[in-house]
Amino acid sequence: MLDVCLLGCGGMMPLPYRWLTSLLLRYNGNNLLIDCGEGTQIALKEKGWSPKPIGMILFTHFHADHISGLPGLLLTMGNAEKHDPLLLVGPRGLERTVKALLTIAPELPFEIEYKELEGDTEFTWNGYRVNAFKVNHNITCYGYSINIDRAGKFNVDAARSLDIPVQYWSILQKGEGVALEDGRSFTPDAVMGERRKGLKVTYTTDTRPTNSIVENARNSDLFICEGMYGEDDKLVKAREHKHMTFSEAADMARRAEVKEMWLTHYSPSLVNPREFLDRVRKIFPATKAGKDGKTVELDYEE
Ligand SMILES: [Zn+2]
Ligand SMILES: [Zn+2]
Repeated sequence: MLDVCLLGCGGMMPLPYRWLTSLLLRYNGNNLLIDCGEGTQIALKEKGWSPKPIGMILFTHFHADHISGLPGLLLTMGNAEKHDPLLLVGPRGLERTVKALLTIAPELPFEIEYKELEGDTEFTWNGYRVNAFKVNHNITCYGYSINIDRAGKFNVDAARSLDIPVQYWSILQKGEGVALEDGRSFTPDAVMGERRKGLKVTYTTDTRPTNSIVENARNSDLFICEGMYGEDDKLVKAREHKHMTFSEAADMARRAEVKEMWLTHYSPSLVNPREFLDRVRKIFPATKAGKDGKTVELDYEE
């Protein structure tokens, strides 16, 4: 089970009724955060969740509305006696940017590790497979697909007919090979069925629509996408500032054949995003307006 919580859904500045956009994922006791604008730790607190178990923060880019909440969050993690290392991931320049912010949050009781992205990258972290991909903003900006892969079913009959002792079964189930004392060795594919459909969440914000986003978001269970402007007549503005309209986001969701899309990163001038939904749902019916604290528990299909 993967818990997804959109902590905030605002762009540019936090408002009294809307925190800046940030996403929290929880899987198997390992929590990760995407983006951390001013006030993100208050949004977390409102939800009743501790920042302490967060082990990784992914940054889309270094505009203030996506990173300025970091020093305060780190201090709160320190006050909560976090001792496990924290991995930060983001565009090139991440370490320099964070170290500048750390001048106001020195002496933390945990290590910070850095992973700077040099173009589209895939890596794994505690059961998550993360795909980072470049999007199209006015500075370097990345989108992220977070995958929970699911192995095939273990075939007991195959394991018995191959005469593999029971003590080796769980190792094969974990995807590792085994070497038996009698000299025989087996790889997992000898006893594991076809890989089953896992879970996929894609998050993109601060970008124009791109084909790469559509390909990376393909078949996501949940696609969280920026919708800076509700009105189609703000397209010129969207192009100029490298953002997008609800309709453009919905068109990408339709092309990517995702199950559901949540809009986020609203312009401060966009007071009621829901008033544009009827029109947008003609493009992609499973469009929802993200709101602060919006949560879903994603589970495997069967
Ligand atoms: Zn932004
Ligand atoms: Zn930006």
